[in-house]
Amino acid sequence: MKTKTAVLYYHRVYEKQCDINLLCVSPKMFEQQMKYLKKNFNILRFEEDWTKSDRDSVVITFDDGYLDNLTFALSVLEELQIPATVFVSTGTLSNIRELWWDELETILLTEGNYSNVFQLHDDIYNCEWRTDTYEFRLNCYKALHYLMKNHVNPSRREKWFEQLWKWRGEMRYVNTENATLSDKTCQELAESKYITIGAHTVSHPSLARLMFEEQQMQIQQSVAYLENLLQRKIDMFSYPFGAEGIDFDESTVAACKVSGIRKAASTNAGLWQKQFDPYAIPRNSIGNWGLYGFKAKIDKLFRKEK
Ligand SMILES: [Zn+2]
Repeated sequence: MKTKTAVLYYHRVYEKQCDINLLCVSPKMFEQQMKYLKKNFNILRFEEDWTKSDRDSVVITFDDGYLDNLTFALSVLEELQIPATVFVSTGTLSNIRELWWDELETILLTEGNYSNVFQLHDDIYNCEWRTDTYEFRLNCYKALHYLMKNHVNPSRREKWFEQLWKWRGEMRYVNTENATLSDKTCQELAESKYITIGAHTVSHPSLARLMFEEQQMQIQQSVAYLENLLQRKIDMFSYPFGAEGIDFDESTVAACKVSGIRKAASTNAGLWQKQFDPYAIPRNSIGNWGLYGFKAKIDKLFRKEK
């Protein structure tokens, strides 16, 4: 019988009051999910050869590099002896900023003395949003998230953040609820024999929207930073946002190849198959599901492509 392999991806193992981007799986759910996988599948490393498995297999990955991967996920992984790969976005390792969607959330959706209107001005964009209620600010959040992901390069995004903080009337600060790994905690996580660290760009842009040189810079700088920090070869990568043809394309794959990347993960759903391109590995998003919902999703995934 032919065995099958599915790659799963997580972001956070954390219990968060308001998880608008649905990035969190609670520590309890995570533990249940891992126990189920350990019992029913081979669990393979992202970087290894998946063709030799004698049983249906899963591969566990995390994107972005949140601190809770160390504080909550690692103990479960170690206890159950489950390997996982964490793809780290290196721009937040200094801990002076949050991942950009979290920073946007901190500015617009946490407690504060909000004025009635936010006006955004630069050489291209002149926009205005009402901000006097949570609903209006949520609208503004969604619009800015959309623009920042799809139309704005990282340097323009930075300038927008300056305007947003000025508008909020506060010095830029980091909301500890959205804490990412630091240099030190990334090293600590990488010390575990169950953890592989991969790269995930510097500032988490949708790569295919950038010029080739910028894409290359985002990939190479994140790889170089991690290699220097961890004193090991970094050749695994996951594309921010990860949709093929939208967030990465042939130019992104070429930029990965010249940067020494050997395997790159997408967010295209489905099972992995042997003939697949190693630069477009499908992965399946896992949510905050209890055992019943999780089993149903996993069973469906493996049944679907017999
Ligand atoms: Zn990401």
